[in-house]
Amino acid sequence: MAVKIIPLEEPEEPPGSCAHTCSSSFASALPVRFPAISRAKAFRNRNFPNTSIAEWNDWHWQLKNRITTVAQLERFVMLTDNERQALQRHSSTLPFAITPYYASLISPVNPKDPVRRAVVPVVNELIVSSGEAHDPLGEDSHTPVPGLVHRYPDRVLFLVTDYCSNYCRYCTRSRMVGKSKRSKGFKERWEKALGYIEKHTEIRDVLLSGGDPLTLPDESLEWLLQRLRAIKHVELIRIGTKTPAVLPQRITTQLTKMLRRYHPLWISIHCMHPAEQTREMKRACERLADAGIPLGSQTVLLAGINDDVTTMKKMMQGLVRMRVKPYYLYQCDPIIGSAHFRTSVAKGLEIYQGLRGHTTGYAVPTYVIDAPGGGGKIPLLPDTVIGREGNDILLKNYEGNVYRYPDTL
Ligand code: SF4
Repeated sequence: MAVKIIPLEEPEEPPGSCAHTCSSSFASALPVRFPAISRAKAFRNRNFPNTSIAEWNDWHWQLKNRITTVAQLERFVMLTDNERQALQRHSSTLPFAITPYYASLISPVNPKDPVRRAVVPVVNELIVSSGEAHDPLGEDSHTPVPGLVHRYPDRVLFLVTDYCSNYCRYCTRSRMVGKSKRSKGFKERWEKALGYIEKHTEIRDVLLSGGDPLTLPDESLEWLLQRLRAIKHVELIRIGTKTPAVLPQRITTQLTKMLRRYHPLWISIHCMHPAEQTREMKRACERLADAGIPLGSQTVLLAGINDDVTTMKKMMQGLVRMRVKPYYLYQCDPIIGSAHFRTSVAKGLEIYQGLRGHTTGYAVPTYVIDAPGGGGKIPLLPDTVIGREGNDILLKNYEGNVYRYPDTL
């Protein structure tokens, strides 16, 4: 079927500044369908008393009112000296930003709060440890045209934006996210990437990532999806996003109505802690799932945040309840200043063992290391095949008991 491509106008401002859409008339035109959890509601009443529910539920309002300075953050959070120093000395390449919605999930008093640790910098971020690198996965050396990583034979990673609504302190692409002040010139970059995909007929799977693709305006995203769907050999389009967890208001019915026109389209949601799994996130996932979009999740294993079986099991079971299949559990990439986030591989295996067999198989992600230097994802598994006796293979189950299977030789 021939696909009619709509012309794309480049917006004058990046999505975060949203000068073109942040009017109250836009906000009032949106159906108010997001349940305001009591915590978010109390936060809004306390800190944004003049903001209506319609504005709060408008993703443009959320982006326009992001917290990006120490002074703004100190209105909501009692900062430690360490956090304040990190924010003031902020020489790190990774910017700082939190949506008011996500700020409502942060403990104002506990610096060890997992949500707070994920987005508020500390001075450890400025310390370079052995083995760390700006681009540990060697993505830059697998980049044939700007913004396109071609590492695996039949698929590419298309970095469509460097903008995110929140900046995770452990971001693999901390070297590049949040750099553009304006989105001018993005269409030119996209055209080059699309040209490469068109020429390479072996590419059957395109993963849109960044930055966060769901921070793009609907029109820009649809333009991209139309162009990709017009390429015959592209079978599958995937989107990697953290939006349902940090900016669930973005998952509007208009967006899902548009996305469902471009199937097969899959979405991977970045989730790092059960505290993110609010009713708002649930509603966002429901909207995506109801649009027929298969949902998977990606989680980074983070010291002191989710590196215990109880937290991980709660998170994975919560995802399954939201119709999201836990897909990958990543060992944290050794980006610069990440030592305080990284755990041992033994800890990761222990968590994997605490899930496998102890809960629904659908709730168990594949535990992987994305090999430094560009080796791709390598699965890590506890030893289950422990030997052989004659034709029998000896297997260890989740309880540590040994069983035999008559193997075919
Ligand atoms: S949302 Fe993803 S791309 Fe953006 S800062 Fe977090 S990890 Fe990085």
